[in-house]
Amino acid sequence: MFQYIYVEDAIREHPQTQETLLKYPRATVVPCQRYGEIFNRKGQNFRLQKKSASLILAEKHGKTVLPTPPDYGIGGKNNYYFSHMLNCVFDCRYCFLQGMYQSAHMVHFVNHESFKEGIINTCTEHTGEDVYFFSGYDCDSLAMNPITGFLEDFLPFFAENPRAILELRSKSVYIRQLLKHEAFPNCVVAFTLSPDSIQKQFEAKTPSLDKRLEAIEKLQKHGWKIGLRFDPLIFCQNYENIYRDFFENVFSRVDLNSVHSMTMGTFRLPKGNFAKMKQLYPDEKLFAGPLEKKGSTVSYEENLEKSLLSFCHNEIAQYTSTEKLFMYPELNS
Ligand code: SF4
Repeated sequence: MFQYIYVEDAIREHPQTQETLLKYPRATVVPCQRYGEIFNRKGQNFRLQKKSASLILAEKHGKTVLPTPPDYGIGGKNNYYFSHMLNCVFDCRYCFLQGMYQSAHMVHFVNHESFKEGIINTCTEHTGEDVYFFSGYDCDSLAMNPITGFLEDFLPFFAENPRAILELRSKSVYIRQLLKHEAFPNCVVAFTLSPDSIQKQFEAKTPSLDKRLEAIEKLQKHGWKIGLRFDPLIFCQNYENIYRDFFENVFSRVDLNSVHSMTMGTFRLPKGNFAKMKQLYPDEKLFAGPLEKKGSTVSYEENLEKSLLSFCHNEIAQYTSTEKLFMYPELNS
């Protein structure tokens, strides 16, 4: 899969590095001092690199756990994220990562132990309270697991720390490792779900809706708590029919007893990311409108945004209580 693997000198002998290199005996290994030399180099062609991205094995320095933006949550008070990876194997056109980095190469920070330390320290700062940790913020938590060994390492760790609640957010159906592990209550396996037509048009390289629902069915039988992430909702012709059929399909297959939480949000991007993404894909209809700038964000025109959100909210309400549904933006905002 990778023709080139860049390896920082400092972690060349790290067991996680050794394990990864063994998986790719044919890759050319290129030593480097710091991953930024390759990842942050100016003038890289993101679109071209995305077609055959390289892997970079690096060490995460400094803070490993950071607070999430205020609207990012699933009902908890203390919300943090950690990124053991940067970038993603999938290629969703609406993904903010495209406007975030100079490079499409994938970075894996192999020093998992530093992330664990950051998680323990953060829990200590919130004595006696639950703390939520989101692992799928700058990557897809499950998709790269065969390379990162993330689940093998972090599932036992979180199982032993019940106050630390892990959210794995993914579009991947790579669930073998989860089915091998006993389910535990402080882990939410969250899937981003979109109607078929939206998936085909805007979520390149991702598994179909049907495959994701199949994965959910297996996981819920195995006892895992499930998160449903309807984000981003995309405005399209005939969106009422498209989303009505979609929710009917989803709620006919998901066992509501295993649902931990649902989130829903309309398509939106930070202004800077939006400008970069529009430059990358000037003919992309998604970026052509009907959008407007609101503060530091670009999103759908206000009335349209409210119609789309309230339509989807009402559809969901036909199947389940919306107590566990967290929305961006709030309907009354
Ligand atoms: S799966 Fe998530 S992280 Fe990966 S490209 Fe799509 S939106 Fe981005």
